[in-house]
Amino acid sequence: MNLAAALIARHFWAAGRELCLGGVEVGEIAARHGTPLFVYDATVIDRKWGLLRETLPAEFSIAYSVKANPNPAVLRYMLGKGAGLEVASGGELLQAIAAGCEPSRILFAGPGKLEAELELALARGIGEVHVESVLEARRLLEIATRLGARARVAVRVNPATETQGGAMRMGGKPAPFGVDEESLDAVLDLLVAHPACDLRGLHLFAGTQILDHAVLVRQYRRGLEIARHVAGRIGRPVATLDFGGGLGIPYFPNEAELDMHKLREELHGLVAEIEGDPLLAGTRLLAEPGRYLIGEAGVYVARINDIKVSRGKTFYVLDGGMNHHLAASGNLGQVIKRNFPIAVVNRLGEQPTRRVDVVGPLCTPLDALARDVELPVAQVGDLVGVFQSGAYGLTASPVGFLSHPTPAEVLVGDGPVRLIRARGSWTDTIPQ
Ligand SMILES: *Cc1c(COP(=O)(O)O)cnc(C)c1O
Repeated sequence: MNLAAALIARHFWAAGRELCLGGVEVGEIAARHGTPLFVYDATVIDRKWGLLRETLPAEFSIAYSVKANPNPAVLRYMLGKGAGLEVASGGELLQAIAAGCEPSRILFAGPGKLEAELELALARGIGEVHVESVLEARRLLEIATRLGARARVAVRVNPATETQGGAMRMGGKPAPFGVDEESLDAVLDLLVAHPACDLRGLHLFAGTQILDHAVLVRQYRRGLEIARHVAGRIGRPVATLDFGGGLGIPYFPNEAELDMHKLREELHGLVAEIEGDPLLAGTRLLAEPGRYLIGEAGVYVARINDIKVSRGKTFYVLDGGMNHHLAASGNLGQVIKRNFPIAVVNRLGEQPTRRVDVVGPLCTPLDALARDVELPVAQVGDLVGVFQSGAYGLTASPVGFLSHPTPAEVLVGDGPVRLIRARGSWTDTIPQ
């Protein structure tokens, strides 16, 4: 079974040849809200949240990483599950608050925070600002002093050793993220001596799209080691230890799912080991995943607008492409273009007898959602679905490129189908 079929079997449903999302036929959703669009299925979020919550020991809390998908309805849904929010810009901070997140449950990470952003974070009294450099720490404390506030600070650490096994490796090398472990002590000394600083925690985030549970566990172990060291240095345990996000989902046929059973076993072992450790007494543990919670819940649906054959090769030309879904086009940090799971979602079960390229409407050869993929013989008007599209989709894409309207977003599986972002229009693309 290919990955698209496996995902349909696990998360969705087929009514005859037609994909159902949240129990509604995709053709009906497309007819009502137009194409292209992103559809997010709340029942998949429920399933992923449940799995993660069962996997992480009770000592862990979860903050959803807003940049994976900042749609307000998605944020509210995550808040309803009991998540806090991790933000990485002033805009995301305001989105989190607008979605109803308790400021104390917001964490603000990310390099190069502007003074205005730091000021906003302090003024709103958010849970923690994660400082990414010495200069940023100084700036934050200066602003706190000026405002007569106390800054709740966590230090993001760039570990001295690399964590292997994710799509993007962090740690062990120069990075714009975090303070090098080698210079951590100096930063700690600066922070604990400052009257405006409430040094609360540590943050490690060593890589994204990790599918090997052992890599995550190694990363968490490094976090614990660093937290013990810090406790020794500052003379008390830290209040919070944030292990970052990075839990992956499979996109390609050769990728195996993250083994949540093994991860659960290992993490429970880890928590048992630290029980009674005075250097970690009262330390709250935190994970801040994005992709894992929302990635599988999303399907990008576009309509075939043209079918052409050029020198023996067939092209299905869709009404949307990399302008809405850069990741699927392979241009968001992928070295070799590999195809996301894809299907003609009104022809499920039909034999994939045609080898085609599925392209978008942009006037650039980069705009291919799938190359040399085997799909059923299709007709103009058919719908194509790209799976694993809930994370790093719309807001990680160059929506202004070629000035097509932005796609709609809808939420299914949580009551009636709900439009959660209206489609843009051509006139939106003309600056006022
Ligand atoms: C992007 C990001 C995350 C989420 O990463 P995923 O790989 O989607 O889990 C978490 N924390 C920080 C600081 C981030 O920048």
